[in-house]
Amino acid sequence: MIYPLNETHDPRLTSWVESANDPNTDFPIQNLPLGVFALGEDEMPCIGVAIGDQVLDVSATSEALWADNLTDVIADACALESLEMLMLWEPEVWSELRLRLSRLLRTGNEDRFLLEEYLHPMSEVQMTLPTAIGDYTDFYCNLHHATNVGRMFRPDNPLLPNYKHLPIGYHGRASSIIISGTDVRRPCGQTAGDDNQPTFGPSKLLDYEVEVGFFVGQGNRLGEPISLEKAEEYIFGLCLVNDWSARDLQRWEYQPLGPFLAKSFATSISPWVVTLEALAPFRVPATRRAEGDPQPLPYLFSTNNEAHGGFDLQLEVLLHTQQMRTQNIAPLKLSHGNFKEMYWTFAQMLTHHASNGCNLRTGDLIASGTVSGPTKDARGCLLELTWRGTEPIALPTGETRTFLQDGDEVVLRGFCEREGFRRIGFGECRGVVLPA
Ligand code: CA
Repeated sequence: MIYPLNETHDPRLTSWVESANDPNTDFPIQNLPLGVFALGEDEMPCIGVAIGDQVLDVSATSEALWADNLTDVIADACALESLEMLMLWEPEVWSELRLRLSRLLRTGNEDRFLLEEYLHPMSEVQMTLPTAIGDYTDFYCNLHHATNVGRMFRPDNPLLPNYKHLPIGYHGRASSIIISGTDVRRPCGQTAGDDNQPTFGPSKLLDYEVEVGFFVGQGNRLGEPISLEKAEEYIFGLCLVNDWSARDLQRWEYQPLGPFLAKSFATSISPWVVTLEALAPFRVPATRRAEGDPQPLPYLFSTNNEAHGGFDLQLEVLLHTQQMRTQNIAPLKLSHGNFKEMYWTFAQMLTHHASNGCNLRTGDLIASGTVSGPTKDARGCLLELTWRGTEPIALPTGETRTFLQDGDEVVLRGFCEREGFRRIGFGECRGVVLPA
């Protein structure tokens, strides 16, 4: 693990931003996730840090207060309209920025009156993508999900022979990645029944997938792989991902080359990038392989990864239908899973991705695949929860769901809790389904 615990993780720290001291906030002073926001549609985007229910404008702060103290590289990187320049630097630089933000926002900082004018209520800012995302890769690294989905189509042989030897992934579409809160239009496409006679029209089996993603920090040169021992140095931070999926389009198109238009119409991400350093208290061993499972090949194995490669990150999915919103009924929790249930770690995914010499670039988004768990209430998509639509979910309005209807809002939440540490959260990743 490259980030040891330090003063920024101290659970006793409090902030002069009062809302950050609320035990239920996702954004206490121990978190300090970075994002990009604008004060209005015509305003320039700038870099901010989430603190309680406020956003501190880091770019303005760096100009006004830090120029003398900070190395120029951080100040310059923070003054830009995206996180790209920051992501380009080494973990030591990210760590230095975190320390300085922590000290600025701590209770007792006498300069707080200089900073207050750079605080904006989170409810009044508009979040944007944290960086221009050049490439997006989606993995399929959760054994529970892969086994459940495999079982629906191949009851006797749910897992293909490669699954336990390599992190399965495919190249996604970066251009349609959208920030939380952006509506998602139901896609149209080709679907076909068992007679293999396709028609074109709106998807009838629209689904979500709860996933976790990471942003690549410094990239690697073409032709130069990344060792597993160094892999986490290339990870800037994590966000929540909803990999919306049109199951009926997917079923007809996915063989032999994998998902295409069933996935590329939209992928939603949460706006705040939680750094690996903030997550240091919540690292856990990689999932133990079952008796009889193959050991990973040497390039995908390290004792460090075995000991600390996982994240104890709890994930919730909530559904809020149009009718529930009209009747003022609270969102219904559909599932509660945990990211520690991954068969492959993020470090293994990154190392495998670059193992053929493929160059990963700063700002690339790499997602985990649907996060499911061993129990039914931990299944991370409707395909699994309703078992391909055969077990409808009853809603408090009297409605039922097998797949998403127009007007449905899907909300993903993520948070980390551990005895002796301050709870931190990822905020939300939301999206409402619009008619085709
Ligand atoms: Ca996916």
